[in-house]
Amino acid sequence: MKPKEFRVHAHRIVDWMADYLEKIETFPVKSTVSPGDIFIQIPDKPPENGEPMDDIMQDLDRIIMPGMTHWQSPGFFAYFNANSSYPSLLAEMITSCMGAQCMIWETSPAAAELEERMMNWLAGMIGLPQTFHGVIQDTASTATLASLLTAREKFTGYAINEKGFGNQPDFRIYCSTETHSSVEKAVKIGGFGRCNLVKVPVDKEFRLIPENLDRTITHDKKQGKVPLSVVATIGTTGTTSIDPLKEIAAICQHHKLWLHVDAAMAGTALLLPEYRWMIEGIEAVDSFVFNPHKWMFTNFDCSAYFVRDPETLIKTFEILPEYLKTRTRGMVNDYRDWGIPLGRRFRALKLWFVIREFGVKGLQDKIRLHLALAAKLKEMILKDQQVELMAPVPLNTVCFRIKPEGAEDDESINRYNEQLLQVLNSSGKLYMTHTKLNGKYTLRMVIGQTNITEQHVIRAWETIKEYATKLTI
Ligand SMILES: *Cc1c(COP(=O)(O)O)cnc(C)c1O
Repeated sequence: MKPKEFRVHAHRIVDWMADYLEKIETFPVKSTVSPGDIFIQIPDKPPENGEPMDDIMQDLDRIIMPGMTHWQSPGFFAYFNANSSYPSLLAEMITSCMGAQCMIWETSPAAAELEERMMNWLAGMIGLPQTFHGVIQDTASTATLASLLTAREKFTGYAINEKGFGNQPDFRIYCSTETHSSVEKAVKIGGFGRCNLVKVPVDKEFRLIPENLDRTITHDKKQGKVPLSVVATIGTTGTTSIDPLKEIAAICQHHKLWLHVDAAMAGTALLLPEYRWMIEGIEAVDSFVFNPHKWMFTNFDCSAYFVRDPETLIKTFEILPEYLKTRTRGMVNDYRDWGIPLGRRFRALKLWFVIREFGVKGLQDKIRLHLALAAKLKEMILKDQQVELMAPVPLNTVCFRIKPEGAEDDESINRYNEQLLQVLNSSGKLYMTHTKLNGKYTLRMVIGQTNITEQHVIRAWETIKEYATKLTI
C-alpha cells in the first residue's frame, strides 16, 4: 500500500467507524451466528498475491460483522462492560499508528513518563493515598497474579524465584466464595496449589464474613500451614457485593498477611467521593487493581495496578540481560520490571485523552447517571409482583428473576429464567448474562455502557416484561 492509498482508506475507515457507532443500535446486540459459520467463509489458504482493500472491506461487512457481538451497544447489559469512547478510540488509532514498544523508558520516554503521570492522576481521582504507585497492566487477572507472586517473594525473601518451592510449607491464600475466578487461576499459576486457596463464606449480602476469615487463618496456623495473603473484592462479578475492607485489613495486619484488593469493575465508582467508604482501610492494603477498560470509557486493555511498595514488585519481576542495560537505569521507570510481559503498548495515551476530554466531572456525571439508572430499575423491580430482586444493588448491577404464574419450586423457576434469557438474547434487542445465587438462576443487568440513557433501560425492561409474558412455564 502506498502512502496516498493509505490516506484514502484511512479516511474511509474513519467514516466506517463513525457510521458503525451511529447505527450500532440497529445490529442484534449478541451475534446470532452458529459455531463454524464464520470459519467456513474464510478460505483455508492465504492469498498468494495481495488483494485490493475494497475487497477486504467488503468481506469485513459481509463475513465478520454478522459474527460480532456489539459491546458498545446501549443494549449491552451482559458481563461487565468493556467500554470505549470517542477520545479513547482516537488515542488507540494513534497508538497503533506509532506502534511503539514501551518496555523501558529508553524505548519511548514519553510513554513511560505519561504512564507515571496518568497513574498518579488516577490514584488521586479514586482517592488512593499518596503512598501508592501505579502501573498499567493488560488485565486484572495479570495484576492479581503479579500481586500474589510479589507476596510470595516478599514472604520468602525472594527464595522461590531463586530456588523454586523446594520444601517450602503450604502457603494459604484467602478470598470469599464470590471472588472472581482470576484469583484461583493466579493461585494455580503461582505454584501455591489450588487446594491452598481458601474460600471463606459470605453473608446474606454476598460479602466475605471477617470472623470466618480470622477463624480460618488461626485454624490453618495451628495445622502448620502458612497464611500468606487475602484477596478482598470491591464489586464482585455476580452481584457487585463489597467486602468489608476495614475489618479484613485489620485481620491482615494482625496476622501479617499481604492484602490485595480486586476492584476490577467497581474501582471506577471511586471517582465519586460518596463511594469512597468502599475503600475505608486502604492504608493497610498492599496492592489494588481496577480496570479503566471496564467502566471508565477506555478501550480494552487498560488495567490500573497500584502497589504501596514498588521496590518489592520490581525485585520480584526485574531481569537484566545485557541487551536491556541502559544508562538511565535507576533514574526512570522501566515498566518491564513492574509486571510479567516485556513488551508493552503505549496505553497511557488513551487514558490521557479520555481523562482530558471528559474531565473528571464529565466522568463523574456519567458514572452517577449509571448508578441512578440502576437504582431506578431496582425500584421498578421492587414494585413488580412478578419479579424478585435477588441481591442488594450497591452499584450498577441489578440481579433479579421472574416468577411466572403457577411456578412453585425453584427448579421450574430456574428453568423458566434460563429459557427467558435464551429468547431475550436471541431477540437481538438486548444482551444479558446470568449467575447462580444460592442455587437460584439469576438474571444480571449491568448498567454501565458509555452511551446508555434512561430510555435504553426502560425499553430493555419493557422487552424483558413482554417476553416474560409470552413465555409460559
Ligand atoms: C472482570 C473482573 C476480573 C477480570 O478482569 P480481567 O481484566 O478481564 O482479567 C477480575 N475480578 C473482577 C471482580 C472482575 O469483575
